Amino acid sequence: MPPEKKTPILKHPLVKIFFWIALIWVACIYFLGYFHLPSNKLTVSYTDFKNKVSAGTVSQVTFKGESVYGKLKEPVKVPSEGGAIMTYAEIETTLPPVADPALLGLLESNRVAIIASGKGDSLLTTAMVYLLPWLLLMGFLVYAGRKMQGGMGGGGRGNVFSVGKSKAKLYTKSSSDVTFKDVAGLTNAKAEFVEIIDFLKDPAKYLALGAKLPKGVLLAGPPGVGKTLIARATAGEAGVPFFSISGSEFIEIFVGVGASRVRDLFENAKKDSPAIIFIDELDSIGRARSVGVGGGHEEREQTLNQILAEMDGFSPQESVIVMAATNRPDILDPALVRPGRFDRQVNLDLPQKNARHSILKLHVREVPLTDDVDLESLAKRTVGFSGAELKNLINEAALLAARKGKLKVDSEDLDQGMDKIIMGLEREDLVNDEEKRAIAYHEAGHALMAKLLPGADPLKRVSIIPRGSSLGATEQLPNEDRHNLSRDYLLKRIAIILGGRVAEKLVYNDITTGAGDDLKKATQLARRMVCQWGMSDALGPITFPKGEQDRYLGREVADVKDFSENTARLIDDEILGVLRGMEKRAEEILKSHRDKLDILANALLEQEVLMNDEVDRLLGPMTPPSAEAGREGDRRAAGDAA
Ligand code: ADP
Ligand code: ZN
Repeated sequence: MPPEKKTPILKHPLVKIFFWIALIWVACIYFLGYFHLPSNKLTVSYTDFKNKVSAGTVSQVTFKGESVYGKLKEPVKVPSEGGAIMTYAEIETTLPPVADPALLGLLESNRVAIIASGKGDSLLTTAMVYLLPWLLLMGFLVYAGRKMQGGMGGGGRGNVFSVGKSKAKLYTKSSSDVTFKDVAGLTNAKAEFVEIIDFLKDPAKYLALGAKLPKGVLLAGPPGVGKTLIARATAGEAGVPFFSISGSEFIEIFVGVGASRVRDLFENAKKDSPAIIFIDELDSIGRARSVGVGGGHEEREQTLNQILAEMDGFSPQESVIVMAATNRPDILDPALVRPGRFDRQVNLDLPQKNARHSILKLHVREVPLTDDVDLESLAKRTVGFSGAELKNLINEAALLAARKGKLKVDSEDLDQGMDKIIMGLEREDLVNDEEKRAIAYHEAGHALMAKLLPGADPLKRVSIIPRGSSLGATEQLPNEDRHNLSRDYLLKRIAIILGGRVAEKLVYNDITTGAGDDLKKATQLARRMVCQWGMSDALGPITFPKGEQDRYLGREVADVKDFSENTARLIDDEILGVLRGMEKRAEEILKSHRDKLDILANALLEQEVLMNDEVDRLLGPMTPPSAEAGREGDRRAAGDAA
C-alpha cells in the first residue's frame, strides 16, 4: 500500500484547536478587561476618599464588595503621567479590612446618596478571565475526542473543525478486484492462502466440522515483495471485504485514539464478516515492549493491547481473518505470535529469477515492447530487485521511451531504467577530464579482472557514466541466482572488487577516494568468509556472530562478542590476510596485462560504455594468468566452502 499523506503540521487538528483557544482567550481578556478598567474613575486612597466626602464634593457612593465608587458633583482635572490632563467624574477606593463604623455617619451627614450593590463583580470578572479559557480548552478536547470516535463509524470524518481532510481515512474498506492472477511468483505463499480463501468463501462448512483456522497470519518479508498485494488478492479471491490500515497511522493524534480505532476497525469488520483485516507495518505498534526507545510508548502499548484483546475476543464464528505485514518479524512482541493471535507466519522473499521473469511479464501487459527486448535476460540481471522495484523499472523505461518520442519501449530504455533505479539519476557535468581518466582506469581494472579470472561472473558491461553516488560501474552477469558460493568464487569476487583500486595505483601510483566503497564491500565479504562461513584455516570450522547479516535488513547485526581477545586478533589477521592476498593477485594480473588495461581505459574514455562483446573485441585473445598467481591468499583462506 502506498503510505497515506501525512497531515502537514499547521493543518494538524491540535494546532487548530490551540489557535482558536488562544484567539478566544485574547478576546476574553480584552473585552472583560475593557469593562473592568473604565478610564473615567480616579483611584484614590481611603483617607482621600473620606476627605472628599467631608469636603462635600461627592454626591453618591456605591458599595460593591470591597470597592467603593463615588460620583463627584463636579468633574476634577488631574494631570496624568504622560502630561495630558484627564477629567474624572468618579472616584474609586477600596475599603480597609477593618470595618469603619464612622463612615456611614460621615456619608449621611454630608447628604451623600448610598447605593449598595451586593457582591462585587470584580471577583467574578477576574474568575471569568482566568477560568474561561480553561473551560473552553476542556470543552474542545471533549468535543474533539467525541468527533474522533464518533467519526470512525462512518470511516471518514475523524477530523476536528473539518480540517486535516487527509487524515479522514482511518482505515479503508474495499472490495478487492485484485486476484491471484495479479500476483506473480510467491507460489508458496499462495498455497498457504488456498485454505483461508476456501474458509472465507464458506465459513459454515468449516464451522460445522469444528475446524479451526488461524485468526491471524503474519506476512514477513522485505519491502516491496508483495505482502499487501497478496493479502488484497486473498480478499479478492474469496470475494470478501478488505479492511486495511497501517500501523504507523494508529499512533497519531490523541492518546487513546489508537485503541479506539482498533476497536472500531474490528467492530466494522465483524459486521461485514466474512472479511479480512490487514494491518500494514505491524512492527510500528507491535515491537517488543522492552525494545522501544523514545516517546509514544503508552499509546503504542494501548493500541497493541487493544489488538490483542480484539483477537482474543472474537470467536471462530465471526469469520474475520487478520493479516499483518512486517519486515521485522524478529522484533515483534512475543505476545503477538502466541497461539490464537498471529500464530501463522508466511515468509515472502525477494523473487528468484523465474519469479522476476513472471513479475516483469505481468507488468508489461500494457506496455508495448520492441522485439529486441528480452525479459528473460532482464530477469537474470535484476538479482535482488523486489516486485515493486521491477514494476518501477518497467515504468521508468516507459517514461524514458515516451520522453524520447518512441512508440515502443526498447531494451536501451530498460537498461537505462535499471541504471536509474540502481544508482539514482545521471549527473554528467560534475566530473572533469582528469577525474574521468582515473575513473576509466578504475573501471577498466574491474573489467579486466573479471575477464581474466575464469569462473567469475561473466562481464556484462562497463561504463564511466557517473550516476547518483557512483562514478562508474562494472556490471557482471551472474549465471543464476547463486545460493552456494564457493570459496574460490568469493576470492575471485574480492580480487575483482579490489581490481579497480589496484589499477589506479598502477597507473597513478596513487589512490582516490572513489575506491572507498569497493574497500567496504571487499572487507565485508572477507569478514563473512572468515566469521560466518568458516573459510579460514587458522580459525577452523567455526562461526562468529560478528559477520552475520540481518536476514531482512541486509545489515550486520550488532557485535556480540563471545570470543577472546586472542581470537578477535586472529579474526582481524585472517580478514586482512584474505584482502592482502587478493590485492596482490590483482596487482600481478593487471601488471602483466598493462597494455590491455590501457586499451580498455582509452576505449572507455572515448565511448563511456562498453558491452561485453566490445570488450572481447578490444582485448583480443588472451592467456589467462598462471594458476599460481596470488596463491598466498588462497592458502590463508583454505577450507571447505559453505
Ligand atoms: P509490500 O506490502 O510487501 O511492501 P506491496 O504489496 O505494496 O509490497 O508491493 C508493491 C507493488 O509491487 C505491488 O502493488 C505490485 O504492483 C508490485 N509487486 C510486488 N510483488 C509482486 C508480485 N509478486 N507480483 C506482481 N506484482 C508485484
Ligand atoms: Zn570500483
